[in-house]
Amino acid sequence: MKKKLNLGVRILLGLVLGIVVGAIFWLAMGADAAGSFTAKYIKPFGDIFVNLLKFIVVPLVLLSIMDGVIQMGDIKKVGKIGWKTIAYFLVTTAIACVIGLVVASLFKGSFPMLELAEGAEYQAKSANLMDTIVNIFPNNVINPLSTAAMLQIIFIALIFGCGVLVAGEKGKLFGDFIISFNDVTQRVMSFILALSPYGVFALMVWVVAAQGPKILGSLGLVLLAAYIGYTIHVVLVYSMSAKIFAKMSPVTFFRKIFPAAAFAFTSTSSVATLPITKECCDEMGVENDISSFVLPLGATVNMDGTAIYQCVAAIFLAKCVGIDLSLGQMITIVITATLASIGTAGTSGAGMIMLAMVLEAVGVPTTYIGIIYGIDRLFDMGRTALNVVGDASCAVCVHAWEGSKVPQKKQKA
Ligand code: ASP
Repeated sequence: MKKKLNLGVRILLGLVLGIVVGAIFWLAMGADAAGSFTAKYIKPFGDIFVNLLKFIVVPLVLLSIMDGVIQMGDIKKVGKIGWKTIAYFLVTTAIACVIGLVVASLFKGSFPMLELAEGAEYQAKSANLMDTIVNIFPNNVINPLSTAAMLQIIFIALIFGCGVLVAGEKGKLFGDFIISFNDVTQRVMSFILALSPYGVFALMVWVVAAQGPKILGSLGLVLLAAYIGYTIHVVLVYSMSAKIFAKMSPVTFFRKIFPAAAFAFTSTSSVATLPITKECCDEMGVENDISSFVLPLGATVNMDGTAIYQCVAAIFLAKCVGIDLSLGQMITIVITATLASIGTAGTSGAGMIMLAMVLEAVGVPTTYIGIIYGIDRLFDMGRTALNVVGDASCAVCVHAWEGSKVPQKKQKA
């Protein structure tokens, strides 16, 4: 346990040192030179770490969901936990959208009205809802694994996990193999996790040196609105659900999830953060079958931070185009942003790609994404941290709803 706590402190140290060193680079070399120097010589160390996490994440998601389903031992329990998880995801994401809309509407009067600079047009990729749904179902077993198509991997894990349960005695050998394979994967993951403070440091130095000055630009207010939305959601939704549903002190919850939030903040990928989120939930005493099921699912479909960002960005860009959104359009934003956040992959920058779907729904040209494109990473850092904390809060709630011991009590025992 001491070692695990140390990881959190070391990640925090990596974060703080990264900010300080990044600021020193920026002050000493100026924004442009510091940006390109750190991108060339320091960011690659962070990239190595993110690569290692991505490398482990496919077996981790596949095996941990299968393990979770198999360990539940009963297909009815899988269904029960599945519905609770999905309901929690949907309700919290819809609340996130409302918070995003309210905050952005309050800020709307002060948002700058920016023109789309020449050459800054953004070519939105098709972000069609029906395509997203169809793409959940793989037509091949190998492809999703080699391309890390997370929704498809989740589908494969769920269906094979259920297959093991239904096969009964005949499925036991395969089930035991998966459980053992999962244990080995978790060990490999812990080797990689030991490197996380260095990864966080390297990424933070680069972000501060390269992006720091941009915060001071004209988009600072839009960024501020998004971060206020993120903060309100954390305080309102996560601390209340920790307190009311999981019966645990919000302070304890936030303290224990901090390493994952800090890593999400720097890596901007929920999926890459998954190993750390799992470690934090283990630390809180969440049952393994529940966290193995809820967290990989959440890292792929539960994106409260992304939903807030998409709402704030939609209102801001609508203002730039000169569209005054009606109540009906606001409701459209809530619905499409909820769906778009589900379709968003848990990887860096994916939320901005899916923003196109929200904009299209309210008639804002998607090329306008070009206005905020340059500072997307700064939005992404906060929204990913929020996404990850949201997944963990679901895990502790489902754990409590399943009548298991209160997470932190198990910890103290
Ligand atoms: N980067 C986010 C995540 O991994 C997704 C997004 O871009 O909104 O959770």
